[in-house]
Amino acid sequence: MKSRVILIPCPSYEEGQVYEGMKEGLRLLGGLRSVIDTKERVLLKLNLVRSAPADRAVITHPAVAAALARLLREEGYEDVHAGDSCGFGSPLKIMQESGMAAAFEKYGVSLAEFKESVRVSYPKGVHAKEFMMARDVCEADAIISVSKMKTHALEHITGAVKNQYGCIQGLNKAKGHTAYPSPESFARMLADLNLKVKPRLYVMDGIVAMEGNGPTSGDPVPMNVLLFSTDPVALDSVFCRLVHLAPDLVPTNVCGEQMGLGVWREEKIELVTPEGTVSLQEAAERYGNPDFRVNRKKEKIKGWMGAVSFFRIFQRKPRILPEQCKKCGVCVESCPVEGKAISFANGRNQPPVYDYRKCIRCFCCQEMCPHKAIKVK
Ligand code: SF4
Ligand code: SF4
Repeated sequence: MKSRVILIPCPSYEEGQVYEGMKEGLRLLGGLRSVIDTKERVLLKLNLVRSAPADRAVITHPAVAAALARLLREEGYEDVHAGDSCGFGSPLKIMQESGMAAAFEKYGVSLAEFKESVRVSYPKGVHAKEFMMARDVCEADAIISVSKMKTHALEHITGAVKNQYGCIQGLNKAKGHTAYPSPESFARMLADLNLKVKPRLYVMDGIVAMEGNGPTSGDPVPMNVLLFSTDPVALDSVFCRLVHLAPDLVPTNVCGEQMGLGVWREEKIELVTPEGTVSLQEAAERYGNPDFRVNRKKEKIKGWMGAVSFFRIFQRKPRILPEQCKKCGVCVESCPVEGKAISFANGRNQPPVYDYRKCIRCFCCQEMCPHKAIKVK
């Protein structure tokens, strides 16, 4: 049987359009009640990576979160919560500043702060045998993962699969980067995490996506779509096709399929639009953007080039743009490496400097810099 992905064109974040798009997408997928009982405790796992205005395409747009909250309420769900473990700052504050909190109050959705962690064992895990999970995640019966369509320095893209990394509570996320430093090991851990958490439904906000220096310092670009699936790998594969990125370049797709999380190959995906079923090729032509700025290079280098890469000569590195740096220190705080691979070695009145011998290329510093002052080159 094929994995079904629904693509709904949606040209703006106008409340009515998003609501109608959300309603149609869920209908084409079989309806909310086909995957979640109305008596269950539901968690909307948003992307609240850090505080940013909604139009910067850093977080799940409040209009998307509000439309989903409204539909859940209309369908009779009464025990609904929403939140994320953000990389920097407080999820509560991000929901309040973005206007999400007001919409959630209107539709009876409680704000989940992801404050407490619970050690959860997962003996079946291929790569990760336990997780420090947010209690809010453990207490939910059913999770709806509401991701944002964005680029990512480590995994090329961040979408449906990567969104579950926010189920890991607070600082434990940083530790995960040291435990799983390569793109492949991180992807395998993410596949284990998704298989453990098992969201019932994946929704992707691709109305305005982020291209370039994502997932927080890139540029907003309209893609005008909402995507829906119960298979996160298939959903991410459609995202790849829309931005003209080969899906097998994305480690979460390849490892996800190998580990039984979902499928990324075109022949295993049924893509449904309001006009009917289309091939991924047709969808790329009709709804895609070939100029979307995303890393389309294959990272793995074999043979003697691999040996050179081992010594990190040609590896991609985070670099600071000194003219943009505000010396805030968020990058230093975010670095998960013991003893820090980035520091104010030249004093607090100068931009931080890297020690590339220690750097594991997790790109947390680039992800968390609030001033777009770090690029991966
Ligand atoms: S987080 Fe960005 S702006 Fe702040 S010190 Fe680091 S590079 Fe500079
Ligand atoms: S310096 Fe940046 S990329 Fe290197 S380990 Fe620290 S956070 Fe990760």
